Amino acid sequence: MDINLQTEKIKKSKNIEFENKNFKNIEFENIEFQKFKEKWKNCSKCKELVENRTNIVFGDGNPNPKIVFIGEAPGDNEDKKGKAFVGRSGKELDKLLEKINLTRNDVYIMNVLMCRPPKNRNPKSEEIKNCHERFYEQIKTLNPKIIVTLGNFSTQKILETKEPISKLHGKIQKKNELTIIPTFHPATILYSGGNNRKIMEEDFMIIKDFLNNNTNYTK
Ligand code: SF4
Repeated sequence: MDINLQTEKIKKSKNIEFENKNFKNIEFENIEFQKFKEKWKNCSKCKELVENRTNIVFGDGNPNPKIVFIGEAPGDNEDKKGKAFVGRSGKELDKLLEKINLTRNDVYIMNVLMCRPPKNRNPKSEEIKNCHERFYEQIKTLNPKIIVTLGNFSTQKILETKEPISKLHGKIQKKNELTIIPTFHPATILYSGGNNRKIMEEDFMIIKDFLNNNTNYTK
């Protein structure tokens, strides 16, 4: 299915509320995003996930972002706290963002699924299908020009490909008006004993260079 983000420019609220949660994590809200959350807050399409989840995890960051990062699904910490990338992978992502002078207040981080698969198993294709409408509605509401996909699941979904992330990472892709920059999931840094950090840092430098050379892409 095509991503058609051109069809409707989401009207963002001028009344942005600032809520300082813990000095480092300032959450920006807007009306369209609140409506989106309201609509999906009790989603019950995936029986097994609903039975096991503590929270639906919409994401984390700024709903009027420069860039949207998309991971796979919430893990244990995310499920408990109701926020995306708050565990060890999240710390790795924060370090990578810092390297390119970004923070969570500049970006939004979301997932292919909003509910945690039990024991952190991979998302099932049926679950990805169930969450499809929410997924594209969230992207449309966030209205980014740049998406960074983290790992196989989000990359293959957005690019509608079966190519593995090992072949696609660091290669800038275009889809309609969107620029998509695939990279690995930050959890791979942990699984590889740190070996994947350098590769991800190089991919993040591509994001930085792209932003520096396309200043019209930033909000
Ligand atoms: S993963 Fe998505 S579709 Fe499935 S229950 Fe959660 S929000 Fe609904």
